[in-house]
Amino acid sequence: MIKLLLAMALVSILGANAAAQEHIQILATGGTIAGKSLPSSGYTSGALPIDTLIAAIPEIEGYAKISWQQVASIGSQDMNISVWKNLYRAIDKAKKDEKITAIVVTHGTDTLVDSAFLFDLLFPSGKPLIFVGAMRPADHRSADGPQNLLDAVAVAASAEASHRGALIVVDSNILEARNAFKQHTESLGTFKPTNGGFAGELVKNEVVFFHPPVRGNDAESLFGIADIDRIADVSVMAVYPALSSQHYKDALALVGKGLVIAGVGNGNFPSSMHGYLTQYVDAGGIVVRASQVPMGHVSRNIEVDDDRLGSVASLGLSPPKARILLALLLNKNMPPRQLQNAFSCQIPTATKTCGEAQRATK
Ligand code: ASP
Repeated sequence: MIKLLLAMALVSILGANAAAQEHIQILATGGTIAGKSLPSSGYTSGALPIDTLIAAIPEIEGYAKISWQQVASIGSQDMNISVWKNLYRAIDKAKKDEKITAIVVTHGTDTLVDSAFLFDLLFPSGKPLIFVGAMRPADHRSADGPQNLLDAVAVAASAEASHRGALIVVDSNILEARNAFKQHTESLGTFKPTNGGFAGELVKNEVVFFHPPVRGNDAESLFGIADIDRIADVSVMAVYPALSSQHYKDALALVGKGLVIAGVGNGNFPSSMHGYLTQYVDAGGIVVRASQVPMGHVSRNIEVDDDRLGSVASLGLSPPKARILLALLLNKNMPPRQLQNAFSCQIPTATKTCGEAQRATK
C-alpha cells in the first residue's frame, strides 16, 4: 500500500514537473474531432468547442500546461484563405511567445494534409507544430479524437519533436506533412506516408521517432502571410481518358496564374491538351505536372518534354501539395528552371540556398 502511494506520488510529481516545463497552445479549427452526431446517421463537423474536447481528457495536464484558442469551427472541406491567415497569425504568435513550448492544431481530416503542408512551408523549424484530427465525431461511443488529441500533446511535449516542421499525429502514427496523404474515407488510420515511411509512432504513450530531425534549427521560411493569398490563383485540373479537347480548352480559360495538372501515371496528360497548354504557358501561365497516383515521383522529361513545354515536374508532391508550393512561390517571379529547383528542395528556406538545404538534409 505504501509502495502504491509512493508510486502515485511519483507519477503526480512527474506530471506536475512536465506541466511546469511544457506549455502547449492548442489552436482549434473544427473537424470531425469536434463533431456532434445528428439524429440521423450523420454528424456536424466542428460543432463542439475546444474546451469541451480538452475537458474530456483530464490526463492531458500530466503532459503540459494547456491553453487554447478557437480559431475556427468548420468542416475542413470549407478551409479557406481567411481561416488559413487567422491560423497563421495564431501560430506565429505562439511561436514568438517564450512561455509556449509547442503548438497543436486540431483540424478536419479532409484537408488536414493541405494545411499541415502549408504551415510546414511557412514554419519549417523551431517549436513542435502538430496537426491532429479524428475520423469519428466526439460523441461517438468509440471516438478516436480523445486519444488522438492526447497523443498529439504527448508528441508536442517531446523534446524530439522540434525542428521537424509540421507533423501529423493520428491513430498512434506520426507523419511528416510533406509525406502524408489521406488514403481511406473512414478508417481510423487514414493517414499514410507517400514516400519515405512514417516519422514515428506512439508505443503505449511513449513517443518514438524513427530518425533524428533532418532540418537545421535555423531553417527560416522563404514565405510570409501575404503569400497565402496566392493559393487562390492556382487551379488543379484532373485529366481522364475520353474527355473532349474542348473540355480542356474551356477549363483552361478559367485558370489563373498557375495550373497543376493532376495527371495520370508519371504526370501525363492527353496529347489533345498539349496545344492549349503551350498557349497558356506562352501567355505567362505556369504549369506543374503532378499525378493522381499517390506514391512515387513525377520526373522531368519522361513522356512529356518539360524543357520544350516550359513545365515543372512536381517530383514527390501530390496535386494539392504542388498547388500550395507553386502558389507560395508565385510572388518570387521565378522562371520555370528556378521553380523546378525550388520543387526539388526538400525545404526551400530563406536561410539556405536549395543546394545547401539539400545537403543539410543528408
Ligand atoms: N469533413 C470532415 C472535415 O474534414 C472530416 C473529418 O474531419 O474527418 O472536417
